[in-house]
Amino acid sequence: MTFKADTRCSCHVQPAVNFGERAGHLKIDILLLHYTGMESGDAALDWLCREESGVSCHYLVFEDGRIVQMVPEEKRAWHAGQSCWQDEVDTNSRSIGIEIVNSGHTGDYPDFPDHQIASVIELCKDIIKRNPLIIPQNVLAHSDVAPGRKHDPGEKFPWQLLHENGVGHWGSPEVNVRGGFLQLGDEGEPVAALQAMFVLYGYGLEISGVYDQKTHDCVFAFQQHFRQNLVDGIADGDTIAVLNELIRTLS
Ligand SMILES: [Zn+2]
Repeated sequence: MTFKADTRCSCHVQPAVNFGERAGHLKIDILLLHYTGMESGDAALDWLCREESGVSCHYLVFEDGRIVQMVPEEKRAWHAGQSCWQDEVDTNSRSIGIEIVNSGHTGDYPDFPDHQIASVIELCKDIIKRNPLIIPQNVLAHSDVAPGRKHDPGEKFPWQLLHENGVGHWGSPEVNVRGGFLQLGDEGEPVAALQAMFVLYGYGLEISGVYDQKTHDCVFAFQQHFRQNLVDGIADGDTIAVLNELIRTLS
């Protein structure tokens, strides 16, 4: 069943079949960005329209900047899967999902073309304008809400450029902190303090005092979004400084 596009951006409507009603107690307050991880945009569009895929998204953005809306924003699209942010696991009910055409880490993970990013920025700005509960720190990567399980849109996605255009959160600490770091296998109070900071920011993580695989995955996901030049799952001084800066500047 076709519908009228929600966005004022230039957009083609191609309805998906996989969607439902949003849980009534949740309001739209997250914008979740993905890459498609498929060989082409047309293959992704075809897949996202198939019932058998079990997935869908609100918008698909091609490499050349074309935008397709597939699910009305008021409906619950199926893009986040098993996930958690700020203790809420029904991410789909509180989010709008944008799939960005890119073959991803299992492909050759090309750079995101300028035309595509320009369209993503305009679309995000339009969505945020109409959904004011989407504050900067709630513009998220799929990897942020599903660390370890998901890696999209990945460390090549230009989050800083989005921030400079008024979309999303970014932290550039003034001092580059050197020295101590925490990594897989470490235990103790500093690990618990680090975990508490990630939980405060929104990540779904247990404060156990043990730098376990889930903590590693969380740090890895954080770096893919906020400290993209070195993504290794090790909480070094610079990573912690960025996290501090982000917490200090929460809306
Ligand atoms: Zn995704």
